[in-house]
Amino acid sequence: MAPNIDAYNRKITYLRISVTDRCNLRCAYCMPVKDFQPLSHTKILTYEEILALIGAATELGVTKVRLTGGEPLVRRGFVHLVESVCRIRALHDVSITTNGVLLKEMAQPLFDAGLRRINVSLDTLNPEKYAKIAGRASFQAAWEGLQTAEAVGFTPIKINVVAIRGFNDDELGQLAQLSTEKPYHVRFIEYMPIGRNNNWTPEQYISSDEIKVRLERFGSLRPVPRAIHDGPAERYQLPSARGEVGFISALSHHFCPACNRLRLTADGKLRPCLFSDDEVDMRTPLRNGAGQDVLKSIFRQTIARKPREHHAQVRGKEESLRSMITIGG
Ligand code: SAM
Repeated sequence: MAPNIDAYNRKITYLRISVTDRCNLRCAYCMPVKDFQPLSHTKILTYEEILALIGAATELGVTKVRLTGGEPLVRRGFVHLVESVCRIRALHDVSITTNGVLLKEMAQPLFDAGLRRINVSLDTLNPEKYAKIAGRASFQAAWEGLQTAEAVGFTPIKINVVAIRGFNDDELGQLAQLSTEKPYHVRFIEYMPIGRNNNWTPEQYISSDEIKVRLERFGSLRPVPRAIHDGPAERYQLPSARGEVGFISALSHHFCPACNRLRLTADGKLRPCLFSDDEVDMRTPLRNGAGQDVLKSIFRQTIARKPREHHAQVRGKEESLRSMITIGG
């Protein structure tokens, strides 16, 4: 059996790496409600350590890496990491997820470093609402960052929207329409109950099916045929749209049978599943001088531990102690 096939015959080809748990925003759905203590710098993997782990992962068959956080753009030297990751020939797909606040200055350097794919998180087009959910008045910076990324040539630009009833459910149509005016892929993400100490309530949850119904008044959603490397998003287009809308339905339509990913936290814990706190420490062996064979064997063991499915649901218990900011979204 190939070393990256798990117990349920899924091929693990995708590693999401959090490069920091620090962020320049304070999004209510992502941060713990109180007492968030960022990791001390010594606990965070160095870029050399991250590159060593990517090296081991690619030898096992990982071909896709996403760099995330926290906010990846706040970590010093991030562009150099991107440059090194983009040079790894075994990777067919390198992308980042960012809130866009620093993209106005960093989009061009990131593009020059070889990056082509970027996801920008933007939950509202209203600056006051943005300040309320994100805890910082940074809408304008994020918007300008998005425009700069487009001007620089990033494609596709995906916009992540967490749909939250009572917060942005009145502007889901407006957000979806960004995909008609611009070549953006606007992806609605179901609000997930992550972190025992976050603000999530079942009342705030909106299913992808409900969002689709709400979007119907903007025209019928035409399904876009799935491509071979597609992730979990269901893809559609509004009439005469330049871009797409997508739905990521972690709660209403589990995509566990097709899950192909592992997550690496900023402090070097490898997580087989977003919703479970089962984690394997990679930092200690790395710092004790483990070679590629040991690292590969830890990856293999972690792949073998990947659960068949998660059990998070709209009216059920939370599965993860860690909040999203400390896992890496
Ligand atoms: N700072 C970057 C950003 O804002 O895109 C990257 C990290 S952030 C944790 C990655 C993604 O996770 C964002 O799109 C964010 O909206 C999403 N996210 C965070 N908490 C979430 C939750 N409880 N449910 C659904 N998505 C969540």
